[in-house]
Amino acid sequence: MQSLERLIRTIPDYPKAGIMFRDITTLLGDAKGLKKAIQAMSEPYGDEKIDAVAGIEARGFILGGAIADRLACGFIPIRKKGKLPWKTIGQEYALEYGVDIIEMHEDAVGKGQRILIVDDLIATGGTAEAAVKLIRRSGGDVVGATFIVDLPELGGIKRLASTASKPRAGRVRGH
Ligand code: AMP
Repeated sequence: MQSLERLIRTIPDYPKAGIMFRDITTLLGDAKGLKKAIQAMSEPYGDEKIDAVAGIEARGFILGGAIADRLACGFIPIRKKGKLPWKTIGQEYALEYGVDIIEMHEDAVGKGQRILIVDDLIATGGTAEAAVKLIRRSGGDVVGATFIVDLPELGGIKRLASTASKPRAGRVRGH
């Protein structure tokens, strides 16, 4: 994971003052780096039965599609409110200021289906926790959650671990 860290660009004060934005487009653009990231994120789940990867908009789509292909399972998009074309269920989650909503198609996850959540980065864990709730509300079983970047001081992995969804993240750290 150390070599992946070098491929991630840090942009200070984006999108607002005080945020160190971890930009993975530089990693995505590197053939070896992308392959390594997909491999590292898929490998721990190679022996598990996974029915679908649930990718969180938007970078979770890029990684999640490739991981689903590796695991030979389906892909489910989890999107910001108002983007999905069919009937949806939504889940609110807290942002630093205010709230946001993510949505999933109401028929995307079948009862008892085993789902792996994918996103590029976990910060407070609010987004991933909302994804866990959506999947469980549909009767799905969250097998795990995988990310490239963890910002450990924001406590997301701990928060997710307390929901028993076995999160894994790379050793890329940020502030
Ligand atoms: P959170 O819900 O706090 O865990 O935030 C995770 C979501 O916000 C992910 O979809 C990330 O892509 C995005 N995000 C949060 N903080 C950052 C950051 N410092 N750099 C890049 N993306 C971030």
